[in-house]
Amino acid sequence: MSNKFKSDKCSFCGREKNEVSLLIAGIDGHICDRCAEQAHAIIQEETRKDSNFDLNGAKLMKPQEIKAFLDQYVIGQDHAKKILSVSVYNHYKRLKQAIDADETEIEKSNIILVGETGTGKTLLARTIARMLHVPFTIVDATVLTEAGYVGEDIESLLTRLLQAADYNVEAAERGIVFIDEIDKIARKGDNPSITRDVSGEGVQQGLLKLLEGSIVNVPPQGGRKHPEQKLIPVDTKNILFICGGAFDGIERKIANRLNTKVIGYSAAKEVDRIDRENLLQYIAPQDLKSFGMIPEIIGRLPVLAYLNPLDRDTLRSILTEPKNSIVKQYKKLFAIDGIKLEFDEQAMDYIVDKAVEFKLGARGLRSICENIMNDAMFYSPSEKIEKLQITREYAEDKLNDAGIQRLKAG
Ligand code: ADP
Repeated sequence: MSNKFKSDKCSFCGREKNEVSLLIAGIDGHICDRCAEQAHAIIQEETRKDSNFDLNGAKLMKPQEIKAFLDQYVIGQDHAKKILSVSVYNHYKRLKQAIDADETEIEKSNIILVGETGTGKTLLARTIARMLHVPFTIVDATVLTEAGYVGEDIESLLTRLLQAADYNVEAAERGIVFIDEIDKIARKGDNPSITRDVSGEGVQQGLLKLLEGSIVNVPPQGGRKHPEQKLIPVDTKNILFICGGAFDGIERKIANRLNTKVIGYSAAKEVDRIDRENLLQYIAPQDLKSFGMIPEIIGRLPVLAYLNPLDRDTLRSILTEPKNSIVKQYKKLFAIDGIKLEFDEQAMDYIVDKAVEFKLGARGLRSICENIMNDAMFYSPSEKIEKLQITREYAEDKLNDAGIQRLKAG
């Protein structure tokens, strides 16, 4: 017996039974708790590398399938969806091709999405991320500054991507970065001779390096708080950048261009055909330049797509139709407490009316609903009710109680 005890040691590290907390017996050997844990970590690491971001295993979705997926979560915006679907499809193809080491190199086409705030730019990017097998991150251009100024360095964009890829550099190098509020780094005014503009042009120049494809040294922890950290070189050649921005006031630039262009023969006819309500649909790269983006950046964002403003009908659909629509989310929340929640059609019309009236867009739908539903969410879990019907009167009362004026857009 004592002999057997002595021979019981971990077949991996050789530690005796009395040196470890737990020794698990197999047919012909043993494994100690520490080795089991280490093995577990190795398995996790390997499967993460292989499965999460595995392109060979991933099904190559066709553009129509990608769009159909987007349709489940994003209402309308067909133009942007089509363009995004094709770009993402091509991104995959390019990555696969890189693996095959073929000869004709497909160049990447970074994307720029232009549309009013709250029309679904971030939502589109997030939804794309749901179905992808590549690391994805969303960053805000407003936090970017040139090195040395308060804020984050351009390289920090890639820190986030590295983190999203669990520091798997190879996977990060095939990832997608969504840069929000790209318009906030526009040069103030379309005048290149304007005195150096710290917040704008310098950052654009910095960004250019990333968009073009180069090896960038990335601080793994980000920021400048860890000067001792070892930088990780990341090649951005195959990283797809999707930029989004509201470009407030760009309609004027578009209108100017359209007006000057159509002077002359049959001008009046052409001007007539222009849909003045939605000028964004005519956006062209030169308008971005007029807005203050440097031509080099525009050149590196060759795919330009616009998003439509959300009209009343679209807002109404957004409330109920997406797979995770606001109404579905509330129903689920109440169902967990055993309460069946229903919204009257008139109540939903009222919510949409208020969002339109206050110019709050799709984002406003949620804040309006929160104000209407808060009391019910506070009281009903303690009350034994089975059903809650939200009528228009109820919605109106609650919104008035909540101080409706507070919700108005500034
Ligand atoms: P943007 O990035 O254009 O400012 P978001 O994508 O962040 O706007 O939209 C804000 C919120 O509004 C989203 O989380 C979503 O709930 C809703 N939303 C906006 N546009 C749409 C849309 N087209 N379809 C469905 N929901 C939308």
